[in-house]
Amino acid sequence: MTTLFEKIIKREIKADIVYEDDQVIAIKDICPKAPVHLLIISKKVIESFQKITKNDFPIINKMMEVCQKLAVEFAIENGYRIITNVGKNAGQTILHLHFHLLGGKDLKWDF
Ligand code: 5GP
Repeated sequence: MTTLFEKIIKREIKADIVYEDDQVIAIKDICPKAPVHLLIISKKVIESFQKITKNDFPIINKMMEVCQKLAVEFAIENGYRIITNVGKNAGQTILHLHFHLLGGKDLKWDF
């Protein structure tokens, strides 16, 4: 089944794209939980962090680099959080690997 993020990558669904290369796309979250809430998404469909294999490590490296770069671009480099929800119990709703990059406010554990 095609994931929502694949549809965004193929431009079948609109999104506010803030970064893109051959491996990664980053967009603004449609329902932000902080003043800055970006989603850093692998173009390869990997179900979740738990399904990453060694072959995927270059993609993960790139995703981390993009998080750093966007943290600077969005002026949150002095305080941000990277989250990836894994599975239903963690609240993962889209089965396509993505990191939430959150910042721009004093982040609590209960946000
Ligand atoms: P998850 O719950 O899988 O960890 O994260 C999925 C995220 O995707 C949620 O934070 C949700 O707000 C966001 N999201 C869901 N649908 C859309 C959409 O159509 N566009 C964008 N930009 N974000 C979406």
